[in-house]
Amino acid sequence: MRYYEIQPSDTATWTGTIEGARQWSLPGVEDCPGCHETWAGSVDYPAVDLTGLEAAHELEDARAAPYADYARLAELVRTRCPPGTQLPPGTSFGPLVGRARGEWGQLTLTDPWTAWARPDALALLEGLRGITPVWPVLHGRQAPVAELHLSLAGGLAVDCIGPTPPACRVCGREDWRLPGDYWLDPEQLPELDIFRIANAPTLIVVSEHIAELGLTGDYRLSELRTSGTAYSQADLSLYRFDA
Ligand SMILES: [Zn+2]
Repeated sequence: MRYYEIQPSDTATWTGTIEGARQWSLPGVEDCPGCHETWAGSVDYPAVDLTGLEAAHELEDARAAPYADYARLAELVRTRCPPGTQLPPGTSFGPLVGRARGEWGQLTLTDPWTAWARPDALALLEGLRGITPVWPVLHGRQAPVAELHLSLAGGLAVDCIGPTPPACRVCGREDWRLPGDYWLDPEQLPELDIFRIANAPTLIVVSEHIAELGLTGDYRLSELRTSGTAYSQADLSLYRFDA
């Protein structure tokens, strides 16, 4: 099986745009007691419905909050998510509510980690693994595209990430940048045809089953290898981290 990173294309031939917000989000963490960072991730789960959750009203305003508040709310939200779901600070839930304009290709990435499919594309994607369409809620018009709910799965190989400082022991924040050359860990390939990489969630991966459909739209594909040249010990010695 071949895998491809899918990204927005550099040139736009379609005019489709969508803007809006989701109904719920976990707070970002403000001045984490472990790493003293204030931060939020960019993870969205459009298919997760928090209607009726005890603390749903606390999730309606995107904000930063003390770590303890984030942790308490994340445990409540977890009861509505599949087992093992990653819930970093700032994760948002529910369909996008807003406005869409323009003409859409069959498959569109509105940013590197958000994918949308037209109904005719959904018909072609039916039966593939990991396809969960969620229709946005638009003011006054039928949605021209559905958002694809993407799981965080798989991983970039540890060998290409190289040495990294340990994750924050409180909030789990990891301080590393995407390396110039990266590849998938062959031991962690999920049984999915589309997913966001768990340890690099700004990247969407599609399998050859999707890549070879030839769907129209403003996106580009680059094949992701499952092996590469690991960092050498000489490279490792360039990095020093405080304990
Ligand atoms: Zn932290």
